[in-house]
Amino acid sequence: MLRTLVLASNNAGKLKEFGQLLSRVGFDVHPQGEFNVPEADEPYFAFVENALTKARHAARLTGKPALADDSGVCVNALQGSPGVLSARYAGEPKSDAENNRKLIADLAKHNDKSAYYYCVLVFVRHADDPQPVIADGSWHGEIIAEPRGEGGFGYDAHFLLPDLGKTAAELTSLEKNTLSHRGQALRTLVEKLR
Ligand code: IMP
Repeated sequence: MLRTLVLASNNAGKLKEFGQLLSRVGFDVHPQGEFNVPEADEPYFAFVENALTKARHAARLTGKPALADDSGVCVNALQGSPGVLSARYAGEPKSDAENNRKLIADLAKHNDKSAYYYCVLVFVRHADDPQPVIADGSWHGEIIAEPRGEGGFGYDAHFLLPDLGKTAAELTSLEKNTLSHRGQALRTLVEKLR
């Protein structure tokens, strides 16, 4: 018997990726929109604070276990920016093209182009769970000014993996899921829930 797990997101890609792995540990994943849960605010500076807030919000409004993620790109020369602001780095309305333009401009005067994607997943059994299950993953690379590749989203075309000689946008989705911050976090979470 699968148990219902509410995903604090309505992103179809995440629903598919998370749903496949979490079914192996007994969960049937449903997006929070199915329960009319509105998006929670994400006012914090740390990924884990935002993810925990989103998970508690979804669990509180549904009465069910909930899972939330938060992710972004952190650039070392910029003290970890864009960080939690990755989706809206260049402001509203959110635009990948504008975000990338701003990132390249902000980094132009720095020699250190190293950066990493980070993802944290937070699972709560119920809204006031005192011991959330937390799993994270990091994926290291460097930011390049000229975009390469058509796949992925967000900052992928500017995120070079030096060992592979490819950007994240030049990987297949299977390759990306195997290597990425999100894939790592998800596999760690599944092991913890097992
Ligand atoms: P969210 O956690 O899905 O809201 O993602 C936050 C933002 O971080 C996205 O809008 C992207 O700008 C960036 N981001 C997170 N993961 C990735 C990735 O795998 N590739 C490219 N950008 C990402």
